[in-house]
Amino acid sequence: MDANNFNRTPSFSSNCNGRSKGLHKNRHTQGVTVWDLQFKTPNKDQYITPKAVHSIEHIIFTLLKNSDRKKDILYFGPMGSRTGFCLLTVNMEYYAVLDLLKGVFAQARQCAAEPNALQGECDNCAEHDLAGALQECAAYLTVLEEL
Ligand SMILES: [Zn+2]
Repeated sequence: MDANNFNRTPSFSSNCNGRSKGLHKNRHTQGVTVWDLQFKTPNKDQYITPKAVHSIEHIIFTLLKNSDRKKDILYFGPMGSRTGFCLLTVNMEYYAVLDLLKGVFAQARQCAAEPNALQGECDNCAEHDLAGALQECAAYLTVLEEL
């Protein structure tokens, strides 16, 4: 297999070295908008640890699905690069997403445990880091507040 013979995938090759921390609209297709929640500067910052990534996924997706925009939230999950997360929405423009995320990441500060992280609820309940997740969420909230 020669990876250079495949078509380039836009979401991987969209100038990642120049992408800054923040909230970026990646694409809008078939009524769905893909947002990149860039926590880290690509190829520069320390990456989010796998345990913190897992905990952030549980915390933020749960808060999004309990928000007043829950019907417009299709998916929230980590980038494989561990530099941030992807959010898929319908019917939401940039400032609505930004406001929602500011509220959700502020709410995350109150989180005393990862939701749905017990055995029988989570596929890897031993691999979580609440403190690390909350630290990353607080840092990303600071980024959001500067947008
Ligand atoms: Zn899990």
